[in-house]
Amino acid sequence: MQLTNRSKNVVNKEMTFWERIYLPAIFKGMWTTLKHFFRKKNTLNYPEEKREFAPVYRGWHVLKRDQQGRENCTACGLCAVACPAEAITMEAAERKKGEENLYREEKYAAVYEINMLRCIFCGLCEEACPKEAIFLTDRLIPADYVRQNFIFGKDMLVEGVEPEKRVDVTVRQKHITEKKTAVGV
Ligand code: SF4
Ligand code: SF4
Repeated sequence: MQLTNRSKNVVNKEMTFWERIYLPAIFKGMWTTLKHFFRKKNTLNYPEEKREFAPVYRGWHVLKRDQQGRENCTACGLCAVACPAEAITMEAAERKKGEENLYREEKYAAVYEINMLRCIFCGLCEEACPKEAIFLTDRLIPADYVRQNFIFGKDMLVEGVEPEKRVDVTVRQKHITEKKTAVGV
């Protein structure tokens, strides 16, 4: 049975003179190479050069803090339930006296991990979060040779307290809101 019409019948015909000297084939190949010198390059010299991403690109998550530097996450688990890849795990803990400046609410995530090898960057965790605690950002996940290093804990997810260590998610959120408004969601 013939699946496609791309098959070719091979015949053992004699090579012509031009085929035997190979020169036309060599020049044809060189002409193809030469043409590519003058074409626009499709590649970038990463990491020196970076490709511009879509404003709503979904990359490395951030766990946000509030204005006073307290962690927003209350370990409610809704992001983990919403995650179709089962990439999020967490352990909740109760805030102790004197920790009011660290955690916004009485319950917080003592452990919060995302397995970046399982994550499909769908953004459902961000949508499920009632506390505006988790957002996806335009940051790329760094490459690594060790699987264990792709399990990002709080040290890799929670933004810093200092203003220069905060991760700005407002631009991306503005674009998402505009898109949703445009399609009437
Ligand atoms: S982006 Fe999607 S797959 Fe990744 S952690 Fe969030 S919900 Fe799970
Ligand atoms: S990130 Fe949001 S949804 Fe996930 S546990 Fe924390 S508060 Fe709940």
